[in-house]
Amino acid sequence: NYVVTGATGPFGRHVIETLLARGVAAADVVAVGRSVDKISDLAERGVQVRAASYDDPEALRTALEGAGTVLLVSGSEVGQRVQQHQNVIDAAVAVGAGRIVYTSLVNAREAGLQLAAEHVATEQALAGSGLAHTVLRNGWYLENYTDQIGNYVANGAVLGSAGEGRISAATRADLAEAAATVLLDESHTGKVYELGMDDAFTLAELAEAVSVASGTAVTYRDLPGEEFQQALVGAGLPESFATVLADTDRGIRDGALHTDTGDLARLLGRPATSMPEAVRAALVAS
Ligand code: NDP
Repeated sequence: NYVVTGATGPFGRHVIETLLARGVAAADVVAVGRSVDKISDLAERGVQVRAASYDDPEALRTALEGAGTVLLVSGSEVGQRVQQHQNVIDAAVAVGAGRIVYTSLVNAREAGLQLAAEHVATEQALAGSGLAHTVLRNGWYLENYTDQIGNYVANGAVLGSAGEGRISAATRADLAEAAATVLLDESHTGKVYELGMDDAFTLAELAEAVSVASGTAVTYRDLPGEEFQQALVGAGLPESFATVLADTDRGIRDGALHTDTGDLARLLGRPATSMPEAVRAALVAS
């Protein structure tokens, strides 16, 4: 069977939908999350829904009981994730899971982003666990940008501090599809994949694509790091998260979120959704 944690978030849900679409029986899918009311529709379709917090080792052991292949979707509580992910790994070991697949961050070890530290620690914990495992170093979600498309058009600007850095982002759906492929095929055991689109883009190119698709002039405004961070705080982000995002843009300048491995297209068996395509889809949806 296949156990997917973070199943109550959009990424985990996409993975489960892909598994079901590819013919996995609903009864062979275990969906784990905290707010499981969000996935009552999956339960109605026969998926085994189990509630567990990453902070609760006992609940995790119960949720993973009988686990074959586990997808550990990295949590969202930055700062607490090393222990939380360790708890999931320990539970996987305790129940004798066959393999664990983890969603890390692209270039996690090399790029030195603040955001990568917990992923690196988790990759190390996996290596030390003795479990067969696969690491999916997911690129930046395209949705980090396309979800803001209304603001870009309203303000005529994309703000950032990423300079001319190229970003190999990818849609959640593409990354989730790749994750499902890896779950379904044991031959990916022991592999580390760097996952992002082949046609990486700069934020100036993102602004250009928004201009073309919307018919409104949108330009990229490259700000010094501090100013960008303040702009994020001004837009309502907590100070700590603004710091992490400003650090990420600093890294993007030096290629922190760029990869040219081609791993994503290979796992998908097709090119990943392109940035202009995702921009057009987001405008239609908005
Ligand atoms: P969401 O933040 O929407 O969902 C996070 C998921 O993790 C939810 O299912 C949530 O469960 C679960 N979770 C968080 N904390 C805990 C906990 N303490 N115990 C149990 N479950 C927990 O993220 P997405 O679905 O969009 O993305 C999945 C992951 O990808 C994120 O968690 C994050 O690690 C990473 N990410 C990557 C980005 C990128 O650009 N590459 C951008 C943003 C996130 P519940 O809702 O039930 O609490």
